[in-house]
Amino acid sequence: MRKHIVAGNWKMHKTNSETLTLLNEILAKKKESKTEIIVAPTFVNLKAANDCVNGKGITVAAQNMHQAEGGAFTGEIAANMLTDINVKTVILGHSERRAYFHETDGQLADKVNTALKHEMRVIFCFGEELKDRQKENHFNIVEYQLRDALFHLEKKDWANIVLAYEPVWAIGTGETASPEQAQEMHQFIRNLIAKVYGSEIADNVSILYGGSVKPNNAQEIFSKPDVDGGLIGGASLHADDFLAIVNAF
Ligand code: PGA
Repeated sequence: MRKHIVAGNWKMHKTNSETLTLLNEILAKKKESKTEIIVAPTFVNLKAANDCVNGKGITVAAQNMHQAEGGAFTGEIAANMLTDINVKTVILGHSERRAYFHETDGQLADKVNTALKHEMRVIFCFGEELKDRQKENHFNIVEYQLRDALFHLEKKDWANIVLAYEPVWAIGTGETASPEQAQEMHQFIRNLIAKVYGSEIADNVSILYGGSVKPNNAQEIFSKPDVDGGLIGGASLHADDFLAIVNAF
């Protein structure tokens, strides 16, 4: 059966020493749980973070990577630089990457291919903007995002894909999708994957919800049958809040 995952996206927060302080607090306070805990610090702190959690039941992920194998791409990071320091999970397609760095579904398809070629696991983010939902176009938008970035994949590739539905209007705004809205979209996504790839793959893919998940709403969101966890921004920066969300399953 599919896995429960709670992932913290630390964005451009936390220096190296702050990263280690937060990780050590999470390690000290976390309980035994079947839910996988992932944290995604910024690039320069990945190695220290991975050394810190080594073998202690927390996975370290990158927040992004470049699609090229290397070369003249000033300021970018290649997949083999991540795997060489044992970072084997990468978040791709976050709405901030799409909005501020103009990442498109076509480019994301290339990034996904590169990550999979390097045997990395991808947490693929997507979701509609407020204007799309107001026009009741949110299901179409999500379908296009998945089709353009992921539906060229082969069945076997889906073992390394985690989906993260993040309605843009709910990210960092304090406004969450209601548990019913989250379930409705997650069910739509799972049905879509079943149509394209069959029910076994659809049943096994973890679909996370992201957008203002907090300790006080996590339990209700996670209680929905097609919600397999969360991608957490703001609340992942505090050990107690993050662990309260991890423990909400
Ligand atoms: P938020 O961010 O929890 O602060 O809304 C979620 C995200 O950006 O993944």
